[in-house]
Amino acid sequence: MTQEYFNYINGKWQVSRAGRTFEDLNPANKTDIIGRFPRSDASDVDAAVQAARVHYPRWHRVPAPRRAEIMFRAAEIMVRRKDELARAMTREMGKVLQEASGDVQEAIDMTYYIAGEGRRLFGQTTPSELPDKFAMSVRVPIGVAAAITPWNFPLAIPTWKLIPALVAGNTVVFKPAEDTPLMAQRLVEILLEAGLPEGVLNLVQGIGEEAGVALVAHPDVKVVSFTGSSETGREVAKVCAEHYKKVALEMGGKNPIIVMDDADLDLALEGAVWGAFGTTGQRCTATSRLIVHRAVRREFTDRFVERAQQLRLGDGLLPTTDVGPLINEAQLRRVHSYTEIARQEGAKILTGGYIYTEGDCAKGLFYAPTIFAEVTPDMRIAQEEIFGPCPAIMEVGSLEEAIDVANSTTYGLSSAIYTRDVNKAFIALRELEAGITYVNSSTIGAEVHLPFGGVKHTGNGHREGSQTVLDVFTEWKTLYIDYSGRLQKAQIDVG
Ligand code: ADP
Repeated sequence: MTQEYFNYINGKWQVSRAGRTFEDLNPANKTDIIGRFPRSDASDVDAAVQAARVHYPRWHRVPAPRRAEIMFRAAEIMVRRKDELARAMTREMGKVLQEASGDVQEAIDMTYYIAGEGRRLFGQTTPSELPDKFAMSVRVPIGVAAAITPWNFPLAIPTWKLIPALVAGNTVVFKPAEDTPLMAQRLVEILLEAGLPEGVLNLVQGIGEEAGVALVAHPDVKVVSFTGSSETGREVAKVCAEHYKKVALEMGGKNPIIVMDDADLDLALEGAVWGAFGTTGQRCTATSRLIVHRAVRREFTDRFVERAQQLRLGDGLLPTTDVGPLINEAQLRRVHSYTEIARQEGAKILTGGYIYTEGDCAKGLFYAPTIFAEVTPDMRIAQEEIFGPCPAIMEVGSLEEAIDVANSTTYGLSSAIYTRDVNKAFIALRELEAGITYVNSSTIGAEVHLPFGGVKHTGNGHREGSQTVLDVFTEWKTLYIDYSGRLQKAQIDVG
């Protein structure tokens, strides 16, 4: 019997109003059905938004340190349940257990960190230009916040949005990715167990084009936080513009590692393998381009191919597995189509390039680690986000050329350079067009207390993580208190 799960709206677990459902499958074994979830439509979304709207006045008056205490308790529950959550995550979306544990840990870190903000949420005070007048600014919540999340970090990314939104005093409607509804269900259960009052957080499961679209367009949603593809993000932003809605977008990447001729090649290889093939290349910060200096290109390429060929594909729950499956059939087909595109564009496929069906992998959605070489910046495989284990190697002759190539895509999330020359490192830090730049480390590994986000088509100026996420989920309110007992006119009563 397939387990059935529900939406959580206005304090009640409930089926979708139309009674429709969708199935959640294990991508390592498509016959393993994880559960059946509500396929919500606009009427479910409306009920969730109304609940959030009704409960907003009460929630935003709860003192922020009290709101945050609930988050501390939620973090503690996650600590206790870390192993079980990680195993469920691997089963639901495929990444290997060690990485799934990292995802849960990131959720724990974020929840503790933002819970601490409950006793900060600092504003500013500054002297007034007039006598007997006090001036300050405070953060205020916005109202009903919508969180729309992807499947690749199914616990961490929801905490990046839900926890700051709630600590700041907003009520939330949460529409998680249709590929990872179970992790969303678990997070909501944990927050309820930690003491979140009913109606404050509402979970609407479903498909992006149905529940997601309805949520973004709902007039009572005041702020939308979205992580997903750049194409979808642009659609979300357009709808938000129609409604004068605040929107924070975290979107795609085509993240480069530059390997200079003076790099520690062992270290660079470790970073490249981890960045390109970790999470099967399905991270927004995954390393998808290797921009390698001519002098080391051959050695780097040979060793990189050798490493890729040693990776063992399989179910992420098995200790022998290095690389898990892709998330779904559509993604498997899409990734494979890029191998064809690479061929047509004249790139070399040094390894991989096929759907992997050895042994038990035939039951799942596996793609052999693939390396494209002799790639030039104008090729689609050098420009487009593939979201699979398919990095492109590009050769350059200087730091300047490496930076030009690195900056030649529309994306700007993460970037990295391997060099032992401090001057080159600082030039790269200054010149790379990206929200994040690493020196002598891979393109992945964001820490929760630093800003996370990208430039160009990767973002729209907001940053998650750190205290900067509070700018997404609060408005600034400026307060003037005049205790002079007379009308004082700013800019006019001078001298
Ligand atoms: P990915 O390629 O990572 O799956 P998507 O952008 O397709 O990224 O999806 C990210 C999230 O956005 C998912 O929760 C998905 O259901 C949702 N979504 C997809 N399309 C829309 C849309 N048009 N409006 C709102 N949400 C959407």
